[in-house]
Amino acid sequence: MFSVKGVVCGYGPKVVLDGIDLSVAQGEFLGVIGPNGSGKTTLLRALTRVLAPRQGEILLNGENIWRVPLKNFARRVAVVSQTVPAVPMTVEEFVLLGRIPHYRDLQFLETGRDAEVAERSMRMTGVKELRGRWMDQLSGGERQLVAIARALAQEPEWLFLDEPTAHLDIAHQVRILDLLLELNQSSNLTLIMVLHDLNLAGEYCRRLLLMQKGRIHKKGSAEEVLDRGIIEEVYGTPVAVGKNPLSARPFVLPVPAGKQTERKK
Ligand code: ADP
Repeated sequence: MFSVKGVVCGYGPKVVLDGIDLSVAQGEFLGVIGPNGSGKTTLLRALTRVLAPRQGEILLNGENIWRVPLKNFARRVAVVSQTVPAVPMTVEEFVLLGRIPHYRDLQFLETGRDAEVAERSMRMTGVKELRGRWMDQLSGGERQLVAIARALAQEPEWLFLDEPTAHLDIAHQVRILDLLLELNQSSNLTLIMVLHDLNLAGEYCRRLLLMQKGRIHKKGSAEEVLDRGIIEEVYGTPVAVGKNPLSARPFVLPVPAGKQTERKK
């Protein structure tokens, strides 16, 4: 269980997260949505020990995350950040980095099991054929898939992702989110994911957290959060909300300025 209690967090004098209280239970699939600048990435940074809170505390199973030894934290928590560095190493070397938190003391090279787990992660994310390629010669979308492969190679209990589908075409978006959903259901991997795309959030996430100006505006099921009134208020733009005819999950469409009057008829 992650428990966030009265967290205030920011950069220099600037306060970004302004009193966050939140619990996330193991096994959840939580989507974090909200307008640009509402604090989604900052919340992920606070939860993953990148940014220390100024006030309040974040507990993982009752223990302050800043007191958990780093290696222990990295064995349990993996992060896929928005930008993946174009480092001068091969895809396979990069994915194997995910195994380092599992190395024993004085272990410097990967074991057969490490290689096996890395191989499986590359296969699941569809990047196995890229294994010999250099990270700095991949497209943004390919690098994003490799970063997800590395995070899975870490075999975490908690996986945090910041817009994991931002550079992916729809086929890859669905492939990755299907894979994450399957891992969430079959191996109890807990997912906390910032998603820009409200429709993907509505389709996949079991619970949504809507941020506005550094605070939690609403949390609940996709149906509760993707409500027309709530979305229009928080994003400040008119939308139409409907139900996907095949999945029965909610979707949100923007309404162009010239078409807004039609709804009033
Ligand atoms: P979101 O992910 O919702 O777009 P962020 O958490 O990235 O929002 O940013 C929230 C606010 O914090 C924004 O006003 C942004 O300009 C500011 N911010 C983000 N990162 C930094 C940083 N490294 N230094 C200073 N301000 C930052």
